[in-house]
Amino acid sequence: MSSTYLIAVGSNRRHHRFGAPEAVVRAAMEECASLGTVTARSPVIATPAMGAAQRRFANAALVLDSDLSPTALLAACKRTEREFGRRPGQRWGDRVLDLDIILWSGGRWASPGLTIPHAAFAQRRFVLTPACTIAASWRAGATGLTLAHHQARLTRPRPLPRGAPFA
Ligand code: ADP
Ligand code: MG
Repeated sequence: MSSTYLIAVGSNRRHHRFGAPEAVVRAAMEECASLGTVTARSPVIATPAMGAAQRRFANAALVLDSDLSPTALLAACKRTEREFGRRPGQRWGDRVLDLDIILWSGGRWASPGLTIPHAAFAQRRFVLTPACTIAASWRAGATGLTLAHHQARLTRPRPLPRGAPFA
């Protein structure tokens, strides 16, 4: 039976053949078509560097219908990252390609090395911004909020709690 996945794609290094991060992300999205049927692709957005990474990221998201199980899809994502030249141990650092499974139609998944929804998706603008262009109404996480709502939470200033004293 086929499942639907939301995948986040990121890059912040040039690839010797594809070129700049934006082009790497586009090439990786093409590659994902070999894992099933890509039914939606976001535009590629530029995101400022964060963490140990020094360079600007290019990010995008896609929706994939696939017969692969979550673990088989993660293995395929890691294989694709390696094919694009990513070396292990580059967490938060420069990486040619990062493929993360953000959501799937089966709800929650937890196995060694794989958690869906992706543990950090609700804190990452570079995931939510492109994802909302293609899957804004997808409900996610323990709260069942839509991605659009998660994004609004992240980008709007929080109101002061009721009764909080003015500083
Ligand atoms: P991040 O994507 O958070 O910047 P990495 O790409 O280095 O970090 O991922 C570290 C590990 O996270 C991977 O080796 C993978 O096994 C694990 N992981 C857990 N859940 C997921 C998920 N939903 N999608 C992708 N990787 C995941
Ligand atoms: Mg990753």
